[in-house]
Amino acid sequence: MNHRETAQALKKAMEFYGGLGFRYLPISEKKVSELLMNTVADDAPVDSGTDETIVSAADKDRALQELREEIGDCQRCKLCRGRTNIVFGEGSSHARLMFIGEGPGRDEDLQARPFVGEAGKLLTRLIEKMGMKREEVYIANIVKCRPPNNRDPEEDEISSCRPFVERQAQIISPDVIMSLGRVSAQSILGMKMPIGKLRGNFFSFNDIPLMPTYHPAYLLRNPKDKWLVWADAQKALSKLKNRG
Ligand code: SF4
Repeated sequence: MNHRETAQALKKAMEFYGGLGFRYLPISEKKVSELLMNTVADDAPVDSGTDETIVSAADKDRALQELREEIGDCQRCKLCRGRTNIVFGEGSSHARLMFIGEGPGRDEDLQARPFVGEAGKLLTRLIEKMGMKREEVYIANIVKCRPPNNRDPEEDEISSCRPFVERQAQIISPDVIMSLGRVSAQSILGMKMPIGKLRGNFFSFNDIPLMPTYHPAYLLRNPKDKWLVWADAQKALSKLKNRG
């Protein structure tokens, strides 16, 4: 227990005993003052460390915001023609775990948020089962505009958009990335191997460990394979623990 926690526990104890009718504790007022003064002094470096973390998180927020501004009303590939919204990505700028999917679907295109449909609900449940909240991770896609009729993004579209997700990963600098589905894994890795062979193995995406797994939309159609995704998630979790 650090000094701040000690002071909080002391305050709580005083409130508790005060509520029971006690008017003093067997400790002098001077001693309490000293303890609280030490608390401030001892906690000062911790506060300054916290400030550094805040600055770092603020820098990352700013860098992501600048990237979003750079993308602007993007017309860099033909997917711009059918989109309602650009789906930039969302989550914590200092996430330790990042998910990269394929591209927005209908719900995502309408709401300008990644993974909000049925597949998104399944992804949220996976994140929670991994012991995290959705807002603690970062979620993005290989392409930021919805392909017509949910077709796979084409090579030229991927190469136009991929630099943006690379920049997001570079800014956030997570400890682990999980790619979701065949298109995402193959685009990131530049390999044509089937997702069934890629999943379950760690690769590297710009020096960040990358675990490919199935897309949640695939799991909606093939729920029997959920255990495979859970096995991949457990490997990602143990990598996070090792790098923590
Ligand atoms: S998919 Fe990417 S590159 Fe293409 S228009 Fe949308 S934001 Fe621009």
